[in-house]
Amino acid sequence: MEKERKLIVAGNWKSNKTVAESLALVGDLKRELAAVKEVDIVVCPPFTALESVSKAILDSNIRLGAQNMSENGYGAFTGEVAAGMLKEFSVGYVVLGHSERRQFQKESDALVARKAAAAHAANLVPIVCVGETLAEREAGITDRVVETQVRGSLAGLTPEQVEKTIIAYEPVWAIGTGKTATSAQAQETHAMIRKVVVAIHGDSVARRVRIQYGGSVKAANARELLSQPDIDGALVGGASLEVRSFADIIKNSI
Ligand code: PEP
Repeated sequence: MEKERKLIVAGNWKSNKTVAESLALVGDLKRELAAVKEVDIVVCPPFTALESVSKAILDSNIRLGAQNMSENGYGAFTGEVAAGMLKEFSVGYVVLGHSERRQFQKESDALVARKAAAAHAANLVPIVCVGETLAEREAGITDRVVETQVRGSLAGLTPEQVEKTIIAYEPVWAIGTGKTATSAQAQETHAMIRKVVVAIHGDSVARRVRIQYGGSVKAANARELLSQPDIDGALVGGASLEVRSFADIIKNSI
C-alpha cells in the first residue's frame, strides 16, 4: 500500500566539509538525483557552507537545512544564528535537539520546544530529534524516555505546527556506531511516537506528521527501514558525506 506521507531523506553533515568540499558534494548529488520526485531530499551543511550550497542547489530538487538555530531572534546573543539569518539563504529545514547537542550542549526538551516555535514562526520546518540511550533501552524504558522527549520538545506548538514538524527518531546507540535498530524495533517506536501525537493532537495531525528514522542508515538497510508503515524517511549522518552512499539510500527507498 502506498504511504500517504511523502518520504523525506535528510543528510546531516555535522561539523564536516569545507565550502569547496560542500560544493563538490552537492554538484554530484544534483547530477545523481535529478530524476527523483518521490522523495523530499534535504542536505544540512555546516553554517559556513549554507550560502554557497544555497546558490548551487537553486533550480534543483535538493532543499537546504541547517543543523541548529537560536531560540531567539536578532540581538545580543553572541555566537548564535537566528532563524532570519537562515532564511536569507533560503534554508527550509532546521535540525533541532540532535542527540549530540543534547549531550554536549546540554539542550533540554524545553529549549528544543522554544527553538521549534521560533523555527515555525519564521516558516522553517523543524526536524526535532528524539531517542533513547543504550542504558535506557537496556533498562526497558525506551517508550517512557521517547514519549517524554516528544511531549516536551513539541510543547506549546499548535496542531498545524506539529503537523508540519518532522520528528526524527534516532536511538543514540545507533548513531555513528554502525548498529542499526532492526526494522521491527524502529517501527515499534515510530508507531508509539505516532500514538503520542494522536494523544496530544488527534488522528488527523498524527496521520500527517512525518517521522524519520536515524542511526547508521545506509544503502543496504534503507529499503527495509523505510518500507515500514510508520517510517517516513531517514536522517542520515555518516553516509550523507559521500555522493554514492547518500544517493543510493534515496534511490533504494523509492
Ligand atoms: C545522525 O547523526 O543524525 C546520524 C543518524 O548519524 P549516522 O547516520 O552516522 O548514524
